[in-house]
Amino acid sequence: MSSPARLRIAGGTVYDPTNGVDGVVRDVCIEDGRIVAELPRDAQRLDAGGMVVMPGGVDIHSHIAGPSVNHARRLSPEEHAADAMPAPRLEDATLARSGTGGTVPTTFATGYRYAGLGYTTAMEAAVAPLGARHAHAELDDTPILDAGFFVLLGNDDYLLRQIAAGETARARDYAAWLLGVTRGYAIKIVNPGGVALWKSGGSDGTRNVTGLDDIVGSTSVTPRKILETLGAAANALALPHPVHVHSNNLGQPGNYATTLASMKALGGQRAHFTHLQFHSYGGERGKPWQSAARDVMEYVNAHPETSVDVGQVMFGPATTVTADSPVEHLLATSTGGGRKWVNVDIELESGCGIVPYVYKEKAAVAALQWAVGLELFLLAKDPWRVVLSTDHPNGGTFLSYPELIRLLMDRSYRDERLKAVNQKLLGGSALLDGLSREYTLQEIAIVTRAGPARLLGLTNKGHLGPGADADVTLYTSDADRAKMFATPRYVLKGGTVVVEEGQLRRAPAGQRLSVRPEYDTAVTKDLRRFFEQNATVSFANYGAEAVP
Ligand SMILES: [Zn+2]
Repeated sequence: MSSPARLRIAGGTVYDPTNGVDGVVRDVCIEDGRIVAELPRDAQRLDAGGMVVMPGGVDIHSHIAGPSVNHARRLSPEEHAADAMPAPRLEDATLARSGTGGTVPTTFATGYRYAGLGYTTAMEAAVAPLGARHAHAELDDTPILDAGFFVLLGNDDYLLRQIAAGETARARDYAAWLLGVTRGYAIKIVNPGGVALWKSGGSDGTRNVTGLDDIVGSTSVTPRKILETLGAAANALALPHPVHVHSNNLGQPGNYATTLASMKALGGQRAHFTHLQFHSYGGERGKPWQSAARDVMEYVNAHPETSVDVGQVMFGPATTVTADSPVEHLLATSTGGGRKWVNVDIELESGCGIVPYVYKEKAAVAALQWAVGLELFLLAKDPWRVVLSTDHPNGGTFLSYPELIRLLMDRSYRDERLKAVNQKLLGGSALLDGLSREYTLQEIAIVTRAGPARLLGLTNKGHLGPGADADVTLYTSDADRAKMFATPRYVLKGGTVVVEEGQLRRAPAGQRLSVRPEYDTAVTKDLRRFFEQNATVSFANYGAEAVP
């Protein structure tokens, strides 16, 4: 079929949680790339009888573009030959490109494969301001997906100087300016203060913060102060997405206490805590790990201003890639070391560490991580605020989403998998307590599209009401939910039929999602001076604003 300006998707079973539609047989009408309430009778029809219809998927946290992702691609050449992707045969004139997959696919492969799963929007979760231009260039080459990125703040020299000087208003103006010049979408904080401290070295070269009140250089700069400053800035600037926080102590036993302290530090205001699974461990340093999912979810359930994505670990190959340089040092040198890895300093701004990794179900820690993620999902009272991610490619690739959906929807399958994993650290896991919940299709629609769209403030995404972007996915219903969600029958992006009878047919360019908040321009005078004194890039050449 072609992609007509008017299309009636007729008689499918529709799941559209934003509009309160839960498994109702109805038509979805599209005109000029948008959802409309009705169409003339003679409009072209797509018979969706027996199919499940949902809005296009929205990924709130994924690593798909920019210098760190590109480093990750370089680090695993063996994956490229093992997963070569020939250029697809497209039906229209859009350029089809070959590429490679593996845990960190090339740009074109990323767009094609996300669309092949029914996803039409994704957020790149961590771009250093200096990498903004590169990230935009890669997103330009990532077809189909509407995409934006979160800009790394919270370990950058200029911000920490403003906090040290008590210049809260200037810190907010700086954040607003930075979002605008980088064409970013939201503020991302990674291990606040910890990366800055790591970069300042120390006798053993492994410095990091351990909690919210550690001192970072100046006595008036602490992780708590960084969180408070940027959390308040994001809300004062009325950004569509609040501050997006990767808390301190990622991956450490006992880190749930830091996670709860971070949530409380931003209590009463909107804040998003990412890949919560990696931050929900009990126990203590030097002692066995255990799950603290119950404690963390008790807080999240009781605080409607707090949202999270899970960062589920899936068994198999992954590539851990993060601005959290010290945690990657830990991972690279743990259990005997010998792993290949990189650790990159991004001047004045951030860090980056990458370690290719395999989560094995027979490994005790990986099994615990897998269980903790599932516990978070299954203990969540409000799926709108506890949304699906694997922190691609950190906990597993986005291609594992269908398997994750099956684990959430099919208890007997989950229990069977649970028996096969290493049990050593699972004592106290809610999974062993007969956590019997099974997600419904409506709840899956919430955690994979409606919820992330709402948390991102994307009012035209994640739903099928009039005015929404015509991003629609049609699945053939199948009791095997992994199979069902891995192979959508049709995917429409902005009204264009990109997947037809399971085959990729068209690959239009995606839109860029960015913000440009207002600020007092007096800050730029001070910034210009700071650049002249400290940076290798001139102020005029900084950022990634569109060339006029
Ligand atoms: Zn991430």
